[in-house]
Amino acid sequence: MKRNILLNPGPATTTDTVKNAMVVPDICPREKEFQELMKGIRDDITVIADGDNRYTTVLFACSGTGVMEAVMGSVVPKDATALVISNGDYAHRFALIASHLGIQSVELGFPWGSKIDLKQIEKTLKSSDFGGVFVVHHDTSTGVLNPIEEIGKIAKKYYTPFVVDAISSFAGIPFSIRKCNIDFMISTANKCLQGMPGVSFVVCKKDSLRKTRHNKRSLYLNLWNQYQFLEKYGQMPFTAPVQVMYALRQAINEFKKEGLQGRYFRYRNNHLVLYNGMLDRGFKPFLENNVEHSCLLETFYEPKHPLFDFKTFHDKLYAKGFTIYPGKSVLKKTFRLANIGDLHVDDIKEFLKTVDDVLEEMGVKL
Ligand SMILES: *Cc1c(COP(=O)(O)O)cnc(C)c1O
Repeated sequence: MKRNILLNPGPATTTDTVKNAMVVPDICPREKEFQELMKGIRDDITVIADGDNRYTTVLFACSGTGVMEAVMGSVVPKDATALVISNGDYAHRFALIASHLGIQSVELGFPWGSKIDLKQIEKTLKSSDFGGVFVVHHDTSTGVLNPIEEIGKIAKKYYTPFVVDAISSFAGIPFSIRKCNIDFMISTANKCLQGMPGVSFVVCKKDSLRKTRHNKRSLYLNLWNQYQFLEKYGQMPFTAPVQVMYALRQAINEFKKEGLQGRYFRYRNNHLVLYNGMLDRGFKPFLENNVEHSCLLETFYEPKHPLFDFKTFHDKLYAKGFTIYPGKSVLKKTFRLANIGDLHVDDIKEFLKTVDDVLEEMGVKL
């Protein structure tokens, strides 16, 4: 099969073994065999998050945003307010979801890609009660990594459920759900786990999950209902994405073989080569050096050269098998390069060489 190098932040480049794992005999997802597959996946994900038997994983058939919506709608009690800590577009999405669900929220906003001020979080939580604190670990709109362990401590001090969108960091950057005091950790199959899109999940502290049982804002995206069904019957209440689940099984097996540290080192090494290579070529990064870079994604400014045009740059790279990603609309004239997925240093070097070729074709000298 043709191997494309995806430098967009997920769905990521997958191995052929993960792709092939989807070709399985047809099976009804209500059968015991499939129930056992899902149980194994749930247990493995809980362990990868460093959860013990006080934690459980709830699977959903949707993209990551679906699970963000399930958690927002399930965790915040009626008439309570959600506190959204935001320094990027994905965190802002939590506030957007709240408004669509008719949930009141306060968005404690910081400039995109800047440091979150922990004192302000503390001040806000002290000043009034909230039904949950919502944070993004790695905000993929900029590449910044947020201090979830420190924020978790503050949330715990004020007895507020702590929700972390770790969609683009889980299984790529080591962290412990227990050490970070996370009550609900959201992620998907198709980013650092290197599976296929279509399954997303929440690792939940069971005590905190139990408290959501009376919140009924959605039939489909209902955390407690989904959990109950998975526990009682071993099934999803509605049709499971069968083949995607088999791919996830294979992706988790491959993850276990590489190990969290191994994957982290591979990603960091890819990032090092990519970041330095881009700087060497005269590209300027968006993130300052006083914030923590995720080392999974970088935002770069488009070069200020009269012959540079992002669409041409993208299209030419795409034709050669490399997919790059535009910047978010707020960050005008930027683009993003992610180094997650089944990518290796040779792929990154090949990409950099191709950037040279494309810039030359465009007549752009930096
Ligand atoms: C990818 C991503 C999401 C979810 O995006 P979907 O397109 O719904 O899968 C949410 N938050 C972050 C930080 C992400 O990187």
